[in-house]
Amino acid sequence: MPHVSPSPAPALFLHDSQRRATVPFQPLDPAHIKVYYCGPTVYDLAHIGNLRAMLTADVLVRLLRTLYPRVTFVRNITDVDDKITARARANGEDIGALTQRTTAEFHQDLASLGVLPPDIEPRATHNIGEMQAMIARLIENGHAYAAQGHVLFSVGSFPSYGALSGRNPDELEAGARVEVAPYKKAPGDFVLWKPSDADQPGWDSPWGRGRPGWHIECSAMSHRYLGDSFDIHGGGSDLLFPHHENERAQSLCCFPHSQFANYWVHNAMLLVDGEKMSKSLGNFLTIRDVLAQAPAEALRLLLLGTHYRSTLNYTQAGLNEARKTLDRFYRALSSVPDVPATPVPQTVLAALAEDLNTPRAIAELHVLANQAMGGDREAAGALKAGGALMGLLQGDPAQWFRGESSAEEDAAIENLITERLAAKKARDFTRADALRDQLQAQGIVLEDTKDGTNWRRA
Ligand SMILES: [Zn+2]
Repeated sequence: MPHVSPSPAPALFLHDSQRRATVPFQPLDPAHIKVYYCGPTVYDLAHIGNLRAMLTADVLVRLLRTLYPRVTFVRNITDVDDKITARARANGEDIGALTQRTTAEFHQDLASLGVLPPDIEPRATHNIGEMQAMIARLIENGHAYAAQGHVLFSVGSFPSYGALSGRNPDELEAGARVEVAPYKKAPGDFVLWKPSDADQPGWDSPWGRGRPGWHIECSAMSHRYLGDSFDIHGGGSDLLFPHHENERAQSLCCFPHSQFANYWVHNAMLLVDGEKMSKSLGNFLTIRDVLAQAPAEALRLLLLGTHYRSTLNYTQAGLNEARKTLDRFYRALSSVPDVPATPVPQTVLAALAEDLNTPRAIAELHVLANQAMGGDREAAGALKAGGALMGLLQGDPAQWFRGESSAEEDAAIENLITERLAAKKARDFTRADALRDQLQAQGIVLEDTKDGTNWRRA
């Protein structure tokens, strides 16, 4: 991670969903920042909508690590869920094998995008005891009740329910009426524990063999790894209600003197060609679908090109545009020999400190690229350091222009270039030009410099 330049670090502002405003970030303990993000439910490949939340977290954590001495970032894995059980059954696959395979695929996909791993990545199934302890405590405190093998959270017992998502209780009740179940005292009450059939995953509990409802796992895992109050809780805006509202209710009722999350960060949704991504519309894109047609940094730049709180419209044209922008940045880096190691530029840092303003930070990278192309070495260093803060420009410029090719293809090209240099040395310019034309016909562009010949794909 690059170091901050000696100038004072800019103050960080974040939009907090609960305060419904962009406010100065005040850590509970500036010596140790604590962040929790809801991770994936592991039953299928991650799509680019999932990626948007993971990437927002990545930039946020990279920025926090630049501004503060220590950050603990926890992101969970949901490995017990009815969607997982259904998919394992449909695949004829063991549940454990499905969740393990999908978790590994998720890790691979994020690694190829340069998303840094969390410090702690707890799995729901490793925290069933913690969930049961919280549920028992909620029953003791009068915030939950057991009925017909279920345990439900009593929404009416928590006057501040709805404060996070900004919904009023009547509205919530009207919305919940559709799923009235006989074991619920009130329609808005939600499940903490539910009974399992013999062929469903289950754990013994004081309420019978069963499994947790989804929401309780994040309350249990954030408490176990970050304590009862921590700085930032994040996720996609689709999690704001009911998931995060319910997490907050559980945690505050279990630990009444805590604050739970001090700031709530939510990224907006992602559309594909102006429409919500869905398998039936045929516009459903996994991370792998996109990486099959473009370099990972192009996808990353495309996603960071829209502010995280604005709806992002993914298009092929946008992906091509992101690729061209990276061509430009890498050309700027390659225009300067031996790019110096430089602190993160204040302009980029200030843009990100302003509620993760990535579009402005990218605009600042363009300014630095212009200066670098004019021969400014410091600007080239700042471009690289500013890019690194967003997980961009991590590659070798020459490699970027060569693109994805096999070592054999590269070796064949290098051989032709060596042959051409030998022809030039022997003043056989006809032969040298013929070799250049042959390479050009293969889509290889040569650039002669005083240090030798560079090549790239056109
Ligand atoms: Zn969660």
